Amino acid sequence: MEMPIVLRGSDRLFVLTGAGISAESGIPTFRGQDGLWEGHRIEDVATPQAFARDPELVWRFYSMRRANAAPCQPNPGHVALARLEESLGQRMLLCTQNVDGLHEAAGSKRVFHMHGQLFQSRCSNRMCETEPFADTRTYEKRSDIPNCKTCGALLRPHICWFNESPFHMNDVIPALEACTVLLAVGSSGVVHPAASFPLIAKESGASTIYVGLETPANAFAFDEIILGRAGEKLPTLIVST
Ligand SMILES: [Zn+2]
Repeated sequence: MEMPIVLRGSDRLFVLTGAGISAESGIPTFRGQDGLWEGHRIEDVATPQAFARDPELVWRFYSMRRANAAPCQPNPGHVALARLEESLGQRMLLCTQNVDGLHEAAGSKRVFHMHGQLFQSRCSNRMCETEPFADTRTYEKRSDIPNCKTCGALLRPHICWFNESPFHMNDVIPALEACTVLLAVGSSGVVHPAASFPLIAKESGASTIYVGLETPANAFAFDEIILGRAGEKLPTLIVST
């Protein structure tokens, strides 16, 4: 077993979670063997251009993902991070690349969803100021897709698509620069900008730790790499005094 990482009063923890921690809860990977969904490249169902061209196709994809994610439950890795937030409060920032709600289901209160949230929808009109809202419904046909009550544009999933900017970077980047420990969990180190977070933290003086089943693509940015399941490693990994 690894030595626990002991956090003291002056420490600040930045946690980045990726697909690995959700996979342990059974959130399915939606790509088939051929990397396609129903014959479409993911890039063709997850861009603003795809939505403009064929909103029904895009909504069928996200409706399937909602249906797949709905029965999934948080695992001990999610619970361990929620407990850490209870003891660290504002000294911890949890940023996730995952769009499911499993951190919140485990009890985390302050979660920065940089890639949006699967169970939220918002207006597709960029100029409309209507806020994203909770939405668990599924839309299979063009005529099912609701219109914004304010401006009449179609509703879209509250997801950061390809060619769009991640959310919450104004909170996330300063926290990366201020943290003393960065813990990445199940983040493959391939998708930017998240792949550069460990290096940003390290260059600001933080120690950097990775937990996941496989060595990430940005392994060079970590001081320590712990291979294993988040649900097994996280509950005893970090202790705050
Ligand atoms: Zn609107």
